[in-house]
Order: sequence, then C-alpha cells, then structure tokens
Amino acid sequence: MSSLQSQALSVENFKDVLDSVEAFLFDCDGVIWKGDQLIDAASQTLDMLRHKGKKLVFVTNNSWKSRSQYAEKFKSLGISVSPDEIFSSSFAAAMYLKVNNFPTQNKVYVIGGDGILDELQLAGFTAFGGPGDADKTIDWKQNGFFEHDKSVGAVVVGIDPKINYYKLQYGTLCIRENPGCLFIATNRDAVGHMTPSQEWPGAGCMVAAMCGSTQKEPVVVGKPSTFMMDFLLEKFNLSCSKMCMVGDRLDTDILFGQNAGCKTLLVLSGCTTQSDLQDPSNNIQPDFYASKISDMLDLLGA
Ligand code: PLP
Ligand code: CA
Repeated sequence: MSSLQSQALSVENFKDVLDSVEAFLFDCDGVIWKGDQLIDAASQTLDMLRHKGKKLVFVTNNSWKSRSQYAEKFKSLGISVSPDEIFSSSFAAAMYLKVNNFPTQNKVYVIGGDGILDELQLAGFTAFGGPGDADKTIDWKQNGFFEHDKSVGAVVVGIDPKINYYKLQYGTLCIRENPGCLFIATNRDAVGHMTPSQEWPGAGCMVAAMCGSTQKEPVVVGKPSTFMMDFLLEKFNLSCSKMCMVGDRLDTDILFGQNAGCKTLLVLSGCTTQSDLQDPSNNIQPDFYASKISDMLDLLGA
C-alpha cells in the first residue's frame, strides 16, 4: 500500500506511463461498462492503446459469465476482444483447480452461474449444481436425511441470484463431511452492478453464508488475490513493473495491482468517488486517478 497521495492523471504523467508500460489490465464493470451500458468513449480509448502497441487484458471479478460469454458482451457493445484476452473469476476458479492438479475423477459442486460450470467443464472437470439446483427445495421434516455425492472434492462459490437452502446444505455437507474438500470463492465483492443505476448484493454475501455454515474460510481466486495475478503474468509473459492496472474499486482492483508492483490508475466512473479516495480512513492510494478511461484520449488531444 502506498502512503503517497494519488495524482490526477495529467499529460506529463500519462506520457510517462505510456513510455514505461507495455500492458494495461482493465477491470470491466465501472471501467469499460456499467451493467450493460458502455462507458463514454471506452472503445476509442482501447483502440488508441492498441494502436500504440499496448497489450490489453480484461480482468473481471463477476463470475456469472464465461470468457466466451464476455467476448460476446464486448462484441455487443461494439468492442472486439478475444476470449484469450479475458480473465474472469469463473475462469480463475477452473485454473486454480488445474494448477493444483485437482483429480478429474473428483466432482465440483457449484453455487453460482453457468459461467463457472462452463469454465470448469472446458478445463476437463465434472461440475454440477448452480442453475441446475435453482428450483430444488428441501424440507428437513419430510426428508430427514440429505444425501450428497461423496466424490465432490471442491465447492466453488460465486454470484448466485438463485441461491437457496438446498444449495447451501449441499455445499456445506461436501465441505464439513470431507476435510479434504476445497472451498473456493470466485470473489468477495460486496456489491455488483447488475443494473447501471443501482448496486446489488455481490458474491461476498453468498461466500459469507457458506463461511457461516462451514466455519471455514475459502481460497479466493479473483481480485485482489495473487493467484489471479501470478497466472496472468505467466500466461501472457508480462512483467509487473511494465503493467498498469486500471480499475474503479480500491479494495479489489487497485490493491490487486499494488500488491504485484504494477502502476495503478483509479477511474471515478464506477463505484469510487473522489471523496472516497481522499477520505482519511482510506489507506489504498492508486498512483493516478482520472474521471474515466477516455481521459487518456483527451490528454493526448486525440
Ligand atoms: N460481481 C458481480 C455480481 C457484479 O455484477 C460485478 C459488477 O457488475 C462484479 C462482481 C464486479 O465486476 P468487475 O470486477 O468487472 O468490476
Ligand atoms: Ca469494477
């Protein structure tokens, strides 16, 4: 964490960033889009950076979609991005299991969306739960005893608007009855922008419910975890000192970049205001801040 106050992005310091940085990591919600609305001139800003030869990587904590679903979302907003340039927390969960040699004969139980199930299946794992258990109900007075699949070796928890008592019981039994069962959280964001004008409870509350019943803490694979950063450094052959992380949230995006030694740029187009940044209780100071990513275009007079 930096004790220095952030500087407003200026012509001079942005030119220094452009000279020293080879890759920009972009958070998505609050930076590129808000809900389903593209943020002002985001597309032109990304084009300008690509034109200058910068590598772009898109890192989202929202586990609801898979990388290919995010590529479709970018396309629908008029931005061409390859699934390979996208790093979602749904993909991070699958990669965490892969990197840790999770045995493919073990199953994965999911409290979350199709994005997680798709990424797990693409990585060669057998996963179930999620939307498939959305309408299941449980009545302990009638059922008395709840059966679960003993071959589950990991429970992955992400945003799940259809979370219910059945899923909580399933995931809880997998973890409590098998001390070796992994408990993985895609992210712990308190809220997310399901709609552009309002914040809604994020994966943090689903993860907290499972922490409550299991009395265990999960491995978090999304921002600000080092797992996500280490994986993408290796995958894209990047060096932290030549990267700039651009995000709208201090405790996920900016911390993620700072922990790795990247330059950091906070944009005020999402969930953080200038007064949040300057509040004496805030101890996460990005190197720079700007109102939105297209300030980069304006500063170059483009
Ligand atoms: N989780 C959920 C459910 C969300 O809706 C969002 C943003 O909308 C996020 C997490 C944060 O996503 P990002 O990391 O792209 O800001
Ligand atoms: Ca964000």
